[in-house]
Amino acid sequence: MSLHYKSGSVSFENVIKTFGNVTAIDNVSFTIEPGNLVTLLGPSGCGKTTTLRMLAGLEHPTSGRIMIGNKDVTHLPATDRDVSMVFQSYALFPHMTVAENVAYGLSASGVNKVEAKEKSEEGLELVGLEGYGERYPSELSGGQQQRVAVARALVLEPEVLLLDEPLSNLDAKLRRHVREEIRELQQKIGLTAVYVTHDQEEALAVSDRIIVMNRSVIAQEGSPRELYEAPASSFIADFIGDANLIDADIIATDGQTAEVAVGALRCSLPQRDFSKGRVQLAVHPSSVRLSKLDHQSTGLTGNVRRATYLGNQMQYDVDSEVGSLFVVDYRVEQAIPVGSDVSIAFSNRGLALVKTA
Ligand code: ATP
Repeated sequence: MSLHYKSGSVSFENVIKTFGNVTAIDNVSFTIEPGNLVTLLGPSGCGKTTTLRMLAGLEHPTSGRIMIGNKDVTHLPATDRDVSMVFQSYALFPHMTVAENVAYGLSASGVNKVEAKEKSEEGLELVGLEGYGERYPSELSGGQQQRVAVARALVLEPEVLLLDEPLSNLDAKLRRHVREEIRELQQKIGLTAVYVTHDQEEALAVSDRIIVMNRSVIAQEGSPRELYEAPASSFIADFIGDANLIDADIIATDGQTAEVAVGALRCSLPQRDFSKGRVQLAVHPSSVRLSKLDHQSTGLTGNVRRATYLGNQMQYDVDSEVGSLFVVDYRVEQAIPVGSDVSIAFSNRGLALVKTA
């Protein structure tokens, strides 16, 4: 083995970045543990690319501090940092062979030819492309080109690997495959990685932790499960889980549990930091249970406005007294026709009280 990795931690301390009178990053602080893959996730313009570019040294903070391992890199140029970046466009040189592309950064930083060849062969092996060195990028598929770009970044033995929307140029099926490959490789090497995407499913699939950004600040940070199951705000519940956001009332509390009224429905939820009064309840689409209306029933009711068959699931839009609900139901054989009156229940999992964002 000629490739060795010393994975570093990353920390942003009160980082602000302005461009003229636009504040792209507004006092952002976070820490990434060595060996973790952390995703920066958020809608367009939220500041994730600027955050990644500051870590790469392609932009510099207006104020605050950035550390990689024990080193303050806030003012270091890109070339003096132990980071390498994979871009969404791959950025391979078309006139160079795959092997030359992978070895390019090594030669540029003065590594001798023999060592560069050895490392680049090992890099290609890591991404499953041994034997492809003599080909040109145009002779590879999109997925293979992206793997070459990953190999080129890995041979530089970075302390931190940066990935900027690495799958956006791939079709949906290949995306899933390549994201699994990237995650397996990162875990095998134990590399610290920062991954930027605006795709919530991709973030849930690849990350140890996710930092969700919105309007230049961190909206919430946590494990995929924490964000999905305990969203702190309606923004997170909607963005991460496509949750239904329903106005509800807390009618009783005992310090631990909140008794919540949603129209005619009652449910008990962990109280978190909510007190009595109006709140929003986030309900995941697969936590809504529909059944044909029995005219004796007194609970929450609605009417199916749209029913879509998707093979393994039915999706419904249901008009109800608490608003329109989006429902995913895996009981395809019991599909409910459009126009049906239904009674509505919520399962205990997949409900959370959230702050209005
Ligand atoms: P996207 O997903 O669309 O790439 P993003 O979350 O990566 O979005 P950034 O590219 O980091 O967002 O941009 C954050 C904000 O900073 C935006 O309002 C953007 O217009 C602004 N911005 C970014 N770079 C510059 C620049 N060089 N000059 C001026 N404004 C900039």
